[in-house]
Amino acid sequence: MRLDIVTIFPDYLEPLNVSLVGKARARGLIDVRVHDLRQWTHDRHHTVDDTPYGGGPGMVMKPDPWGEALDSVLDSGQGEPVIVVPTPSGRPFTQELAVRLAEKPWLIFAPARYEGIDRRVIEEYDARPDVLEVLEVSIGDYVLAGGEAPVLVMVEAVARLLPGVLGNAESHRDDSFAPGAMAQLLEGPVYTKPPEWRGRAVPEVLLSGHHGKVARWRRDEALARTSRHRPELIEGADPEIFDKQDRAV
Ligand code: SAM
Repeated sequence: MRLDIVTIFPDYLEPLNVSLVGKARARGLIDVRVHDLRQWTHDRHHTVDDTPYGGGPGMVMKPDPWGEALDSVLDSGQGEPVIVVPTPSGRPFTQELAVRLAEKPWLIFAPARYEGIDRRVIEEYDARPDVLEVLEVSIGDYVLAGGEAPVLVMVEAVARLLPGVLGNAESHRDDSFAPGAMAQLLEGPVYTKPPEWRGRAVPEVLLSGHHGKVARWRRDEALARTSRHRPELIEGADPEIFDKQDRAV
């Protein structure tokens, strides 16, 4: 998978060199290219923002550098990319969307600063659905100072789904929100050795070696935790995802 990120703070993306994503890059599983938006400015001060039409506080990112940057990145590759524009006013970033993005060969991220990017940039690329897709995406109902942290979040969520990135390909199957049985559930608690720590024992069933009982216990814990922390997930869930024993919980 190829990932291009256009930003005015390339250093902000340094964490993409460490841990899981860094290793995936080193192994050639993902090709990450970070671009400084200011290289597509032509004035002495490398200006990327200007005052908003209609007045009001804050600045807006100018369309010219963004247009040149995105054209240049698009010209440098082949295939049909998805341009991901982080914005609090976008569609929610979910595990389902991460799974969808993980199937794409090429993602281009356009994280903004200030009050966001001049709307015409999004319209310009959104008007080319035959060759690319534009997705405006929010990572949550709060406002950050810029889109770089959302890019780090999205890249990590997508990268760990790519074949070969996680040591055990099965390990995201039981994650909270994973498509399938966990789609509307949060994962329950996990334990490791020692069997007793500060007088607290690991639940008996996990030491039983009985796979059926362990699976049932994990499912019950996931249901209980979801009802406690995110009841709306269970209330809005497709009844098909529940089995007979779930209904009794
Ligand atoms: N005035 C904008 C609004 O209320 O929607 C907020 C702009 S915010 C200060 C600057 C940039 O940070 C946004 O354009 C976006 O790139 C990024 N950003 C902030 N919060 C975000 C969120 N929850 N999800 C995705 N991106 C976000």
